Amino acid sequence: MTAQVHSQIQIPTGKTVWLTGLSGAGKSTLASRLTDRLRGQGQPAEWLDGDELRRNLGRGLGFSREDRFENIRRAVYLAGMLNRHGVTAVVSLISPYADMRDYARRELPGFVEVYVDCPLPVCEQRDVKGLYAKARRGEIPEFTGISDPYEIPANPELTLRTAERTPEECVEELAAWLTGNRLDPLRA
Ligand code: ADP
Repeated sequence: MTAQVHSQIQIPTGKTVWLTGLSGAGKSTLASRLTDRLRGQGQPAEWLDGDELRRNLGRGLGFSREDRFENIRRAVYLAGMLNRHGVTAVVSLISPYADMRDYARRELPGFVEVYVDCPLPVCEQRDVKGLYAKARRGEIPEFTGISDPYEIPANPELTLRTAERTPEECVEELAAWLTGNRLDPLRA
């Protein structure tokens, strides 16, 4: 698949690697490493992180279903723009609802859903940002996994079990899967 960016130049469309999972499951860790790895291979890649997106494009958005959808709609719009210019978008967003991920899949021709699978007790034990402790104390309403739902992907392209593997192993598996699926636009 190609996108016509300028009148004479055809650029292969980039993919969107969409990492979904609970807070603390390992999305950002894996997204950051994958982005570095792709760039190291000379492939243009951009990491779109949920927290960053909220800080920069999501002011005023909360965590209701509607606001989460709006946040995701903005991420999808951005990923689509990057993809059209041949850039791989690596998205790390909890994206807890299946219909929101399905929306992303419909909108983005190169959508790859990666379920970053980690049991809630392990995420809670990691508690990277101290958010689970706060949520348990009732200080954060609508916290995914505690007081808000997470719908497990029914049919993701790939599942990475981060409680059973190291980050290195997970990135290796992800990169291998993507190569097999011709992530690299130069090879497409
Ligand atoms: P999220 O972005 O999903 O909220 P983070 O990437 O911020 O999660 O945090 C995940 C934490 O779990 C990090 O401290 C990371 O080092 C750790 N971790 C342990 N094993 C893995 C793994 N296999 N993949 C990713 N992260 C892992």
